[in-house]
Amino acid sequence: MRIFDPHIHMSSRTTDDYEAMYAAGVRALVEPAFWLGQPRTSPQSFLDYFDALLGWEPFRAAQYGIAHHCTIALNPKEANDPRCAPVLDELPRYLVKDGVVAVGEIGYDSMTPAEDAALAAQLELAAEHALPALVHTPHRDKPAGLRRTLDVVAESRLSVERVLVDHLNETTVEEARDSGAWLGFSVYPDTKMDEHRMVAVLKEYGPERVLVNSAADWGRSDPLKTRKVGEAMLAAGFGEDDVDLVLWRNPVAFYGLSGRLALEVAAPASLHEGNSVLRGGE
Ligand SMILES: [Zn+2]
Repeated sequence: MRIFDPHIHMSSRTTDDYEAMYAAGVRALVEPAFWLGQPRTSPQSFLDYFDALLGWEPFRAAQYGIAHHCTIALNPKEANDPRCAPVLDELPRYLVKDGVVAVGEIGYDSMTPAEDAALAAQLELAAEHALPALVHTPHRDKPAGLRRTLDVVAESRLSVERVLVDHLNETTVEEARDSGAWLGFSVYPDTKMDEHRMVAVLKEYGPERVLVNSAADWGRSDPLKTRKVGEAMLAAGFGEDDVDLVLWRNPVAFYGLSGRLALEVAAPASLHEGNSVLRGGE
């Protein structure tokens, strides 16, 4: 089973996770820029993080045979903080870099006017840079959040066929599918979608344009949820081709819209800017 996790925050995960993911079949992933679990206090704080998503983290992933790409954006939560919003001016110089395969994650958290402005501005940046967009939908009041998201996309210059709407569930999948967007589902250990609910959604709506991710971060999450969905699909009677479509070909097609996906993992360098993943003396 070859697996592409289209949304996982590896900066918050260990090398054990990389090993376990490789053993489970993960060969590629996308790490969306997000918050840190505590508020940033200046735009400069984003820049070192973006550089890590483009440098250190792909270096680390390559040690374990996994191709790493990222998406860059001002995330919805921090769009509300006036200390952070100026990072919007820094995004263009990151969006031209090879490892960046989308603008994201953008979207709504609490559906505030500041989030409206950041979402519209970043959809415009995606259109300008010929990149697709990864759009997070809010965890509260999902149907209203999705509707407003799709309205803002419709008003933007970015075609909805270049948008991946993430964190969908049973209450939002139908409207998202009818819009023409790509459909992202985050499968967590004990909240939101689990692998069995995911299989039920796939039975009802089919595997076209569906992507499944673990969205693993520093919170309670499981970087092997993609594999578990694949197993649950097979157990429920889906064929291997359907599993491959959801876990590999759909994410490749979506992020491939950037023209920048590089899936062959180069032989890992031993050092990144003088540092390695090994301890001294090994
Ligand atoms: Zn995320």
